[in-house]
Amino acid sequence: MHNHLRHSLVAQILDCIVDAHDRHTMLLAALVCAVGIYASIAIARHAARSSGAVRIRWGSTSVLSSGCTAWATHFIVLLAYQPNMRVAFEPVLTAISLTCAVVGIGGGVVVSLSSRRGPRQFAAGVIIGVGVAALHYVGQSAYLVQGTIRWDLTLVIPSIIVSLPIFGFSMMAIASRNRTWQTCAAPLMLLGIAILHFCGMAAMTLQQDPSIEFPSDAVAPQTITPIVAGISLALIALAFLGWRFDLAATARIRQDRKRLRDLADVALEGLLITQNNIIIAANRSIERLSGLKQDDLTGSEVSRLLPALELTTLLENEEREANLIGVDGIIVPVRVLRSTVPLGHSVQTVIAVRDQRERLRTEEKMRRLAFADPLTGLPNRTKFTELLERHTCTERRTDQGLAILLIDLDSFKIVNDTLGHAVGDAVLQDVSIRLSTLVKDRGIVARLGGDEFVVMLTGDVSDVSAFDIASKVVEQLGARPFDIDGRTIHIGASVGLALFPEDGGDPSSLLRNADLAMYLAKSEGKGTVRRFEKILHERLQERQSLEAGLRIALSSGQLEVHYQPLVDAASGRITSAEALVRWRHPSLGLIAPATFISLAEETGLIVPLGTFVLKTACAEAATWPPEIGLAVNLSPAQFHDKSIASIVASAIEDAHLLPQRLEVEVTEGVLLADTGATLETLNRLRSMGVRVSMDDFGTGYSSLSYLRRFPFDRLKIDRSFVRGIPSDAESVAIARAIITMSTCLGLLVTVEGVETAEQYAFAVSEGCTSIQGYYISRPMRAEAFAAFLIAWNNQAPPNPSTGRKIAEKSIVLHHSDLRSVLNW
Ligand code: C2E
Ligand code: CA
Ligand code: CA
Repeated sequence: MHNHLRHSLVAQILDCIVDAHDRHTMLLAALVCAVGIYASIAIARHAARSSGAVRIRWGSTSVLSSGCTAWATHFIVLLAYQPNMRVAFEPVLTAISLTCAVVGIGGGVVVSLSSRRGPRQFAAGVIIGVGVAALHYVGQSAYLVQGTIRWDLTLVIPSIIVSLPIFGFSMMAIASRNRTWQTCAAPLMLLGIAILHFCGMAAMTLQQDPSIEFPSDAVAPQTITPIVAGISLALIALAFLGWRFDLAATARIRQDRKRLRDLADVALEGLLITQNNIIIAANRSIERLSGLKQDDLTGSEVSRLLPALELTTLLENEEREANLIGVDGIIVPVRVLRSTVPLGHSVQTVIAVRDQRERLRTEEKMRRLAFADPLTGLPNRTKFTELLERHTCTERRTDQGLAILLIDLDSFKIVNDTLGHAVGDAVLQDVSIRLSTLVKDRGIVARLGGDEFVVMLTGDVSDVSAFDIASKVVEQLGARPFDIDGRTIHIGASVGLALFPEDGGDPSSLLRNADLAMYLAKSEGKGTVRRFEKILHERLQERQSLEAGLRIALSSGQLEVHYQPLVDAASGRITSAEALVRWRHPSLGLIAPATFISLAEETGLIVPLGTFVLKTACAEAATWPPEIGLAVNLSPAQFHDKSIASIVASAIEDAHLLPQRLEVEVTEGVLLADTGATLETLNRLRSMGVRVSMDDFGTGYSSLSYLRRFPFDRLKIDRSFVRGIPSDAESVAIARAIITMSTCLGLLVTVEGVETAEQYAFAVSEGCTSIQGYYISRPMRAEAFAAFLIAWNNQAPPNPSTGRKIAEKSIVLHHSDLRSVLNW
């Protein structure tokens, strides 16, 4: 630089830095530069934190301070330059240089704020660069020496060309989100400034010329130094202010963070406050959830707690399932929700962590409940069907046996109705325990609903072993009574058996066929096991067609009432008749009630059927001589109908029949349930004048105590006891005992099913009230009965044992006959 020219450019610049500058002043320049930059940045940060007018004020201050920093640094370095000749400063250009710096930086900041995008930031950097370059070269033009200054443009132009992009990149780095890029911003900016300054200095060649006079307004360095010092002091003051602003902001952030943390601690949900994947704070719920202390968690990465959670792909307010790894590696299923919360001027990510264990447990419980019967805990119908489906699939592959036992409890309804649902429930629970104990691991027990259970036998199942277990089921449930709260309860079970694949190739037909078999077991006297047979299908169909036929019969007058006379034992005269229903089928002929009464009871058809019989018989009896009575059978279903008394009343009223002529016959089954209502109905009928007799006495469950409790007028000794008379001593003894007992109780007694003269004579000699049976007559149609009645009672004196009429032999198709007709 001095007067001689160096060839190497680098050496030229180095020389300029090392030789021509005063070290202490250079140090001062660096200090002022650093303080100025800190002040500018701190004030800019404060501006960014504020808003409105305050923001604009502090923003402009920051721009001004950075311009001054650049200018002051530049002039301190210029002052440090010692060219060994007198120097001075041109005041206008000096002022312009300061303006250039401020305007350039200000313009750059404005452009930079307009958009964060790269090109815009680059442009902002270039504008700042232009300002700084202008500061340098205008400032240097204001530099006056006692001599001539020659500019080496080969240094000036490249210095500008090289430094402008560097400023551009520096601004891009400031705006960048990349951390390493960001740290490059300040060094790049300094590099740009250094290139401009030192190239500019190196490009100057000074030629001393004492003849040259300074212009009159030239300012001596001694004058400019206090100005520079003043600006520097102002920068220091500004830096102090910026530092205070920073302190206050940090305190505020700390306070905010504490408040957030306090708030987070009362939240039930776990909350993690994070920044850049690092946990800054965790609340107490997180401690409880993970078993880790808050202090251990802060500072560690989010992945330590939630390893599989990819935070970068988790959107704002998106919920996701994850696993939290707690102390000792315990895994807690959680749901996380991410949201961003502004804190001070920074933005933090809050991860809400919700414990899912309770929810999963509840779900599991619900799932179990949906598939289990709540009363017994056994699988329910849905679950059983699923299991059956799965097993039939595997069985098909492994070729092992599978059997279905469909179990229906006998007389459970009576238990439920008479003893209440609590007792019924307890019985069902006991049944489930007995079945499970019996089946053990040989299969699965399930409750299909109501009193219906099912067992699926799996493994090594043969028809013999399945039948064996089914029989044990019947025995377990039937032979041993249930003890509920000190009450002894007898029930039984009917079991339908179906084997896979013989009795049904798919789950639904297997179940349906087991059901059919069970139905057969029920109809054949209950308490038994039946295996499915193909013929069952046909029977079911017949039953269904029978039901449909019975409905038609009711509406199209195919039902008729026959009458069987009852003879007074003492006088031998007919005193009354029992009405017995028949079905005159268009193609099958006359069908006996045994075939369709139980069906009518099951389907509810018994009520209209019974009313028909009652009305028809009353109307018919009204045409008989007034001393002849009428007996009508009432089934339990009719009897439990609350309106039965009024139905009876209207039937006798319509027929103008004296109530005293009517007698209703009920079986012991009527007495089993609902004693209060039964008693009430009995009393109402009797208060009307209608008599009530107990039919089929001795065949049901009745005990003698019933006879005391319920007000009957008559007992009818069942046929089964009469059949053995006179040969079977036991039958004789029973019949005799019943007759004696009834007489003692003041009851009338009828002996039913008298077929022989011996039986007739026995009944007469034992002192029963009346006699009914084929020996006198079979039931007959109304007209036949009217004729029979006149003929019989007109015999004088009637001597039944010798002079009895030959009973009309009406052609009645009985159940057994029908079976052969239908090929049952
Ligand atoms: P039940 O009330 O015991 O009627 C007597 C049954 O015994 C009648 O059978 C009758 O024909 C039969 N019988 C009478 N004397 C003799 C005899 O000497 N030997 C034999 N072997 N049998 C005799 P039926 O008419 O077939 O009725 C059977 C059952 O059907 C009746 O038994 C009764 O329980 C029921 N029933 C008949 N008609 C009606 C009705 O209108 N309503 C209701 N609810 N049930 C009826
Ligand atoms: Ca009867
Ligand atoms: Ca009877």
